[in-house]
Amino acid sequence: MDCHSTTSTIADSASCQGDAAPGAAAIARRSILLLGLGLFAGCATAGTQRARLPSPIWPDASLLNPPSVASPVKPVPATPTLAGVIPRTAWTKGTPQTNNIDPMLPVKWITIHHDGMSAFSATDYASCAARIELIRNGHRGKGWADIGYHFVIDRSGRVWEGRDVRFQGAHVKDQNEGNLGILCIGNFDQQSPSMAQLVALDRHLRVCRAKYKVKASSVLSHQEWASAHTACPGRNLQSKMSGIRRAIA
Ligand SMILES: [Zn+2]
Repeated sequence: MDCHSTTSTIADSASCQGDAAPGAAAIARRSILLLGLGLFAGCATAGTQRARLPSPIWPDASLLNPPSVASPVKPVPATPTLAGVIPRTAWTKGTPQTNNIDPMLPVKWITIHHDGMSAFSATDYASCAARIELIRNGHRGKGWADIGYHFVIDRSGRVWEGRDVRFQGAHVKDQNEGNLGILCIGNFDQQSPSMAQLVALDRHLRVCRAKYKVKASSVLSHQEWASAHTACPGRNLQSKMSGIRRAIA
C-alpha cells in the first residue's frame, strides 16, 4: 500500500512540474520528489527481495528446481505395468528356441489353464520354481520352443514369467495367435485353487486386460475354446470362470 501511495505522488508531481527552471520551491519539491523516489526504489527492492527469498521451510522443491516451461519429460502412460512378476531367470537357465517360435501378435485373448499333473500344495519358492521348470522340460520334450504359457501363478499368489510375451504361446490348439496363456499351478480336478492363487489371478488378469486392452468376455478357460477338447483347467477352477469374468469386467 505504501508503494502504491508513493507511486501516485510521483506521478502527480511529474505531471505538474513542466519544463520551468527550478526555483527554491521547485528544488524543495524536487528534494521531496527524490526522497519519494528513494522510498519507492527501496520499497520496490525490498519487495523484489521478498519475492526471491525462499521460505524458511526449505523442502519447497519448486524453488530449488523450478519447472521449465517446456519440459522434455514425456507424460508417463497410466496403464499398469507388469511389475512384481518374477523373471524367468529366477527359475530356469533355459532359453527359448528362437528359430522355432513366432512373434506375438497384438493380444486379443487370455486363456487360463491348470497344469493337470499331480495335486500340488507346496508354496515355497524353490518347489514352485522346480515345478515350472518341470513343465518347461515337458514342453521342450514335445519339440516346443519353450514353456507354452506366458505367466504362471503359484498357490501362494506369486506370478512368474513364463514364455516372453514377445513370443506367441503354445497352449491352445490352433488358437495361439494373440492369445496370452496363464497357468495356475495344480490339478483342479483333484484340488481347489487356493484363495491366494485366485486373488493373484484376478489381479494379474486386470493388469493384462488394461495393458493389452482385452475384453472381459475374451478371457476364457482352455476348455471354453471349441478346438481344445480338454478338461483344463479342471472343474474346481472352471466353476469359477463366470465369477472371474464378472469380477474383472
Ligand atoms: Zn490348458
